[in-house]
This record gives sequence, structure tokens and C-alpha cells, in this order.
Amino acid sequence: MENTFDIIVLGSGPGGYPAALKAAQMGKKVAIIEANLIGGTCLNRGCIPSKTLISNAEILKKIRQANEYGISVENVGFDFEKMIERKDKVVENLRKGVTGLLTSSGVTIFKGYGKFISANEIKIIGENNAIIKACKIIIATGSEPKNIPAFPCDHECILDSTDILNKKNLPKKLAIIGGGIIGCEFASLYATFGVEVTILEMLPRIIPTEPGNLSAKLQDSFTKQGIKIETNVRVLGIDRVANGVSVKLEGGKTVDADIALVAVGRQMNTSDIGLEKTGVIVSDNGMIPVNDKMETNVPGIYAIGDIASKWWLAHVATHQGLIAASNAAGHLEKMQYNAIPSAIFTQPEIATVGLSLEQALEKGYQAVLGTFPFIALGKSQAILETDGFSQIVIDKKTGQILGAQVMGYQASALIAEMAVAITNELTVESITSSIHAHPTISEGWLEAALLANDTPLHFPKKNDKAKKR
Ligand code: NAD
Repeated sequence: MENTFDIIVLGSGPGGYPAALKAAQMGKKVAIIEANLIGGTCLNRGCIPSKTLISNAEILKKIRQANEYGISVENVGFDFEKMIERKDKVVENLRKGVTGLLTSSGVTIFKGYGKFISANEIKIIGENNAIIKACKIIIATGSEPKNIPAFPCDHECILDSTDILNKKNLPKKLAIIGGGIIGCEFASLYATFGVEVTILEMLPRIIPTEPGNLSAKLQDSFTKQGIKIETNVRVLGIDRVANGVSVKLEGGKTVDADIALVAVGRQMNTSDIGLEKTGVIVSDNGMIPVNDKMETNVPGIYAIGDIASKWWLAHVATHQGLIAASNAAGHLEKMQYNAIPSAIFTQPEIATVGLSLEQALEKGYQAVLGTFPFIALGKSQAILETDGFSQIVIDKKTGQILGAQVMGYQASALIAEMAVAITNELTVESITSSIHAHPTISEGWLEAALLANDTPLHFPKKNDKAKKR
């Protein structure tokens, strides 16, 4: 195998593999190093397997609504093991696709654990033992579920998000430590399959990183679905007991369950990759500071993905990867973070982009909000998906769209329109003057924009409401 390249990418997740592809497309000689499975966390242990399982839950939910549609369905059942098998097949197919794409693009794949031995050399130990070099190296090593010393995962009954994705049988009771994105997605998934779920969150609300009204609505919806939520509770430890686990809370209370899922954040894979040999600065939290070209303090070494910004999202890693590859290949591209869409695949789904109303006001904008409920949309009623709303935050002075949030059916797909609007600094008029197909849920954006502009169509004007009172 060759050992000198123009660009080496360390890690083949959603940051690393697109960086390698882009660099190869730009005519560079590229190597990618992967210690585990091609595709990284997102494809093998994260987004893809979890969303495949979540799609089963969505179908089950729809089947349970059959009666409301006038369809009789009897003896509804499911085979969870079969669902896990389908999930594994989806992952395997996609992994084959990515591997094929890398190979056909001329990227050399090294399988093994890569460690810097100097600022431009990496030693690989594993299936392909080698020392390879390049003037430009992109670090894309990602993160792993955070292990808390007070309650380490035993991977049998105390699980992390990777373990739970491979569990072939459902427990009766599941305790989830952490009401963040991972905790809530698994709570929603498991509750649909009839598992008794309890979320234990130390902050005052679940999904604390999202705007308050979204987390309140999700909490309402989860409670209606029978998910128990305890906030302001810190988990101090987890004991293994005869038939499962006993979760110890601050204050002495315990919560018993068959299994516990620990979803309390992630830790960076930067401590054991030989960075001390390169001069690259690593922060106390394991993250690598980078500039807007995704370059570290050492010229020629780039970092992307979870290790390089607070946006721990696969699509951010991909975008950073493309920018790093382009810069490493001699072009100039810069990363912008003002329009990052984010989606949470709970039932109901949540998606956001840009600023919340609170953030916009804090930044000094004359911000106003238009919120349109899905129940007022013909399409939502037609498809029995009336739970949810879309809202747009605008700057009253200029009309610029600053942020948008949506909760409900297909929120993850709907957010794309607002991501385009915010990326391109569009104003509210660009939405109100665009014809939105009828009947669609995307009409919610048109109506929210009209409301933000104080020119509502299918909703009373704020002043009209006041006059009637
Ligand atoms: P998170 O940081 O989103 O949530 C962890 C939660 O655990 C926090 O709310 C925290 O307050 C709580 N917590 C911490 N210690 C606790 C304790 N001792 N007792 C009780 N609660 C405690 O982390 P996560 O949910 O593990 O997700 C990790 C990352 O992965 C997130 O940044 C997320 O953006 C990303 N992710 C994204 C998606 C998506 O985009 N759909 C899906 C999965 C994961």
C-alpha cells in the first residue's frame, strides 16, 4: 500500500468520509483511516439505526389510529427482533454504499487505529498496519457516549445508546438517565412499543437545549403517552438488583426498572490519538479549537465534527468536512453557524433552525413571533396529524427571518424551507409571497409568516381578538 498522500482523514463518520470524497473529487490523493466500521457513529450506532427503529414505531402508531380512519385492523402485533434485524440490514446496505463510494473515488481505506507520531505522520495498528504521511490531515474522530464513573455502563442492564440499539428484546420497565435528545428519542420509541418509561433529568425541563415552549409541549405529549418524567432529579448511582436495576436519586428516592439507559452526553475521542506529538491544542473538555476554515492552531491540521464545535450533529460534521477538505485542497471556504437545522425524532417530531424568540431578543433584535397551529390546516386534519405548530421569529425592523421552530408530523422535513430562508438572509415577505402548495403542512410556514407580519389569513389578527373581548 502507498504511504504518502496529499490529505489523510482520521475517522470515517459523517464528517470524515464526505471530507475524503470531496478531497478526492478535487484531484487529491487521499487516505482515510477507520478503527471500527466505515460510516462512524451516525451510520452504525446513531442516526441511521435509531431512525430505522423509530420508523417502526411511527407505523405502529398509525396502525393504532386505523379505527379513526375507518379501517379495521385486528390482532396488531410486532416482532421486535425482526425490527432489529431490519435495522441491521439498512445499516449494512448503507455502509456498503459508503465503502463503495470511497473506493470508486480513489480513496485508500486503512482499517486500524490511527495515532499521530508527528504533525504529518500517522501510525496505524490493526488490519492494515502502516505509517502514512501527508502535509494536510483532517481529524474526524468524533465522540462516544459519556460514561459517568458513579454509574458506569455494564452493557447488560446499564446501557448506553449503542448497547440499547442492539437489544433484541424489550424490557417491561426502562429508566432513562438524561432527558436530552437521545433520552427523549429512546423514551418515545420504547413507549410506543408498550414499555413503561421513566425519564430522570437533573435540569428543570427535558430537552433543555431547545426553546422552553417546545420542551413544555413535548413534556405534555409524553405525559399523555404515559411516559413518566421526573425533572430536577440528579441520578447519583445505579445498583444491579435481582431483576434489573435500582436507580438512586439525590434525596434518597430510588426508581426500579429492568434496564437503565444512560444518556447524559458524549465524550470526545481526542485523548488517545497522539495529539501531543503534533502541538494541536486540546481543551479540557476534549474539544479542539478551530478557526472558521476548520483549521487547528497547527497549520495543515484540521478538525471537524463533534470534536470541533458545540453542534454535535451529523450534518454539521458533513458540512465542516467539505469545508476542511476544500481548504486542505488549497481553496478558501469558511464555516457559518447561523442556520443549522436540528431535528429531534420523537413523537411528535421537533425541528429548529436559527434563533428562538428569547435568543433573538437577547441579541437586541426587535423580534416578534408568528405561531400557527397545525389543527387549523386542512392537510393536518385530513391525515389526523393535528398535534403541533410551526413558528417563525422575525426582526420587525427589517423583516429578516431570524429563526423557526416546528413541532409535529414531518417536522424534520419541514424545517428545510426555513434553513434555506435563514441561510440566505431572506425576509418574511419571501415566504408570504411564495406560493405554498395546498393542501400541505408546509402551508403552516406561510401562515406563521403572515402572523409574524401581523397580516394573518386563516387566523384572527391579534388586535381583532382583543376587540372582540
Ligand atoms: P444531551 O446533552 O442532549 O442530554 C443529556 C441530559 O442529561 C442533559 O439534559 C443533562 O442535564 C442530563 N444529565 C446529565 N447528568 C445527569 C444525572 N446525573 N442525572 C440526571 N440527568 C443528568 O446529551 P445526549 O442526549 O446524550 O445526546 C448527545 C448529543 O448527541 C447531543 O448533543 C445531541 O445533539 C446529539 N444527538 C442528536 C440527535 C439528533 O439530532 N436527532 C440524536 C441523538 C443525539
